[in-house]
Amino acid sequence: MFVLMEANILHADLDAFFASVHQRDDPSLRGKPVAVGGGVVMAASYEAKACGVRSAMGGATARRLCPDLVVVTPEFDAYVEASKAVFEIFRDTAPYVEGISIDEAFLDVSGLERISGTPPAIAARLRKRVRAEVGLAITVGVARTKHLAKVASASAKPDGLLVVPPDREIEFLHPLPVERLWGVGAVTAEKLHARGLTRVGELAALGEDELIEILGRASGRHVHSLANNRDPRQVDRVRRRRRSMGAQRALGRRMPRSRGALDAVLVGLIDKLTQRMRGAHRVCRTVVLRLRFGDFTRATRSQTVAEATAETEILLTAARELLDTAMPLIEDQGITLLGVSLTNLANDDAVQLALPLERQKARVLDATIDDVRERFGNDAITRAVLIGRDKGFSMPGLPD
Ligand SMILES: [Mg+2]
Repeated sequence: MFVLMEANILHADLDAFFASVHQRDDPSLRGKPVAVGGGVVMAASYEAKACGVRSAMGGATARRLCPDLVVVTPEFDAYVEASKAVFEIFRDTAPYVEGISIDEAFLDVSGLERISGTPPAIAARLRKRVRAEVGLAITVGVARTKHLAKVASASAKPDGLLVVPPDREIEFLHPLPVERLWGVGAVTAEKLHARGLTRVGELAALGEDELIEILGRASGRHVHSLANNRDPRQVDRVRRRRRSMGAQRALGRRMPRSRGALDAVLVGLIDKLTQRMRGAHRVCRTVVLRLRFGDFTRATRSQTVAEATAETEILLTAARELLDTAMPLIEDQGITLLGVSLTNLANDDAVQLALPLERQKARVLDATIDDVRERFGNDAITRAVLIGRDKGFSMPGLPD
């Protein structure tokens, strides 16, 4: 049977990740050539790359190529924190996320069309969210295979989005330089160049035997497959049990920051998360309130409840207490993002059923709201505190 495969694999890759984190956190570095690490360059900003600075290059060489180079000390904690925030957005975007390094991952978005839109629309929204919520540029390639998605993101850098439609794959792939093939490094490229082979299409025209003769068995086969656009690898479908669930909302410049306005955002976040948690038959014990400020510094506040639960009311109460304690900090620092993570997750079958009547009522209410929303959509029912203000807090172009 012939099945028309759609372009539904995303390869998302942060642009000049380490250097961009420094430029994000220190505005005086923006627009300047930045190298992370002085002895050996660990990473370079696009401005530095434009002068020929590359990672793994000696610091002296880099400074010779780029006399204005600003060398900064690595800040691993900041990279890890940014990476975690980005992966949280990845996992919020797609059910299957396969991380391949600290700053890139494949996302399988097949089957999400009705809920989240087409793969290109999902990719565009992902880019906006990473920019708004983490303050970094990310490039996304969209294609039918992992290889094409990865090559597409490399071709679209920086800060780009490139979709390879299934009927134009060869047209996209064959004119590219051989170095663009995944797994073709400097040594392999040199061997190919020595034979006068510079474009992917030229490799595709060769037989597998010829490529094996030039590159050796493993590499020859690999390059032959990729040049001929054969890549059966799937996005890793091992669904890892999540240790936390999170949602966050960037606060637009004109959005009020009063306690009441922030409370409405908080209600929306808790509502969405608890609904998702109940849908996954999970419960949690710890609520973490996450705050980000104008300079991209972050703070968290957490509280653990007496017993594991997925009840909106209990978790909202805990989150509101955290918001209260954080208000002085918020007023002082200028908040730009409010987020909630529910952690210490467990399966809900362990939760005892013998609850007091009041709690049972609350559960029935939660279940009823979930049920109505499932059947009629999220807008069908709104918690009282959100009525009339919900829409005002939506980010333009972004769904909730
Ligand atoms: Mg990258």
